[in-house]
Amino acid sequence: MQRIGVFGGTYDPVHNGHLHTAMALVERLGLARLHMVPCYQPVHRDSPSTPTEHRWAMLQQACQSHPALYPDNRELLRAGPSYSIDTMQSLRDEFPAAAIFMFMGADAFRYFGRWYRADDFLQLVNIVVVHRGGEPAPDVAASQWGGAFQPSQSDIVCSRGALTSVQCPLWTTSSTAIRQTLVEGGDIGHDVPAAVAQYIELHQLYR
Ligand code: ATP
Repeated sequence: MQRIGVFGGTYDPVHNGHLHTAMALVERLGLARLHMVPCYQPVHRDSPSTPTEHRWAMLQQACQSHPALYPDNRELLRAGPSYSIDTMQSLRDEFPAAAIFMFMGADAFRYFGRWYRADDFLQLVNIVVVHRGGEPAPDVAASQWGGAFQPSQSDIVCSRGALTSVQCPLWTTSSTAIRQTLVEGGDIGHDVPAAVAQYIELHQLYR
């Protein structure tokens, strides 16, 4: 069965923390492809001030040297509020037989119960809660979806319906910190791929 991952974000801008985590997830879950899905209009936070075309162009450039990472613009094309359930439905329609793994951070999982149609996700995909080393581990098994919990990711062979968690190395980078560094005229060379740093410089973003 084909194994596909979904890693959504604002990507304002995409950074090495995203990319290293994405590559670790590809390896840990044995994914053929990880869809990197930038949101158009986030539902749980303020909208990014950076124009969509720049976030999308930077994500495309960042994924170019990682064949398993697939920049996916379905939320940008859909426009309007970016409800994750619509994105999962559209991936399920496109890949009816695949095992689909939706990744979410441990912080997001804490309020997952408030997401639009939260109870419907496991009918479409598997959910993987990503826990960064150094942060408190989420008690996924004790959540209201604990009945779907499977402790070992490699045991998950179903197309949908399983919940698990995975620990990834800690990368302290964040898009917020990168934007702040740029406002202060600092160097972001260690935080983003060279192509993204060049794109930011060329378009004078985040000044
Ligand atoms: P911001 O600082 O603007 O909130 P961000 O750096 O957290 O942005 P997002 O695009 O909002 O980036 O995050 C997309 C996904 O990437 C989320 O699931 C988030 O948990 C994860 N993520 C963000 N930063 C890191 C990092 N340094 N290491 C691992 N995962 C990360």
